[in-house]
Amino acid sequence: MGLLRSVAIGTGCDRLPRALMGGAGIILMFHGVRPAPEGWRGDYGLTVTPEMLRAYLRLVIAEGYQPLPMSEAMTWLDRPPRRGRRFVAVTFDDGYRDNHDVALPVLQELGVPATVYVTTGFIDRMHLPWWLILEAAIAANDEVTMAWGEGEIRLATKGGPAKDAAYAKLSRLLVAAPAADADRAAIDLAHRCGIDEVGMLDRHFLDWDGVRALAASGLVEIGAHCVTHIRLAGLPMAGAVAEMDGSRRRIEAMLEKPVTHLAYPYGDQAAINGATIDAARNLGFASAVIGYGRVVRRTTNRHALPRIALGSAETLTDLRVRMTGAGDLLGS
Ligand SMILES: [Zn+2]
Repeated sequence: MGLLRSVAIGTGCDRLPRALMGGAGIILMFHGVRPAPEGWRGDYGLTVTPEMLRAYLRLVIAEGYQPLPMSEAMTWLDRPPRRGRRFVAVTFDDGYRDNHDVALPVLQELGVPATVYVTTGFIDRMHLPWWLILEAAIAANDEVTMAWGEGEIRLATKGGPAKDAAYAKLSRLLVAAPAADADRAAIDLAHRCGIDEVGMLDRHFLDWDGVRALAASGLVEIGAHCVTHIRLAGLPMAGAVAEMDGSRRRIEAMLEKPVTHLAYPYGDQAAINGATIDAARNLGFASAVIGYGRVVRRTTNRHALPRIALGSAETLTDLRVRMTGAGDLLGS
């Protein structure tokens, strides 16, 4: 991939494949937006710095993409206003506090609208995600022990490389585990390490005043991201429907406005199936996004819209390559 990719991007040759295969637009997926860490951090690829967020947005604007909230992006897809113009929809998942404190000023500076999908269990302080417990436990300790299955896993976590290795190992286990098992292991870890779960939720996630402040900014629309951040495809259908509809109803009650857009938690291939997609459509959501992919085409299923994931591991070149919609050709 390396040489072709460098040649293509370095010479501006990404523009030709993009012209041919770039589709109707792109949806960017962000999570947290935080300054670069001073100490160790295991962010599971879920954060960008405000500088990188600004750079990504400047790139898409410079390339002529029209920034739109999801509502208007769906209208654009149904009736493209002008041949050759493309939209970019900027989205943030989960409901991190920094979306208001750090990302919103960048959006305001550049006049870019966005859609923030919130997991209502995080906003209601009912549910703390395992990846934050894991990060806090490893950051604060030289050794961690996590209950797993019938036994437990003990790992040395002294120094950055050991912390990285432990984080990678345990997060691989937890992301692949059934949600109930991952939650049980994470709660056990939190108790062993003396983690203040409510304090962590307050530090990391928006409260309802914060969600209202984002919605009142005039630049941000709020979408649903389920109640407990669970892989919907692993649930009985009634449970999946309750997760999607429950988060929508909770947001609608707190904001007193309709919620019409959904992001499937995790958004990976194990998170959704045909029945999940049908359920999102039948619940009346105007769109639903997944967590991977490249460009959006006019024919793309509105309830399985791909997104370009951008986290701590990606660069401007990655975005350029993915915007071409020619990832297979370029081998990325
Ligand atoms: Zn999420």
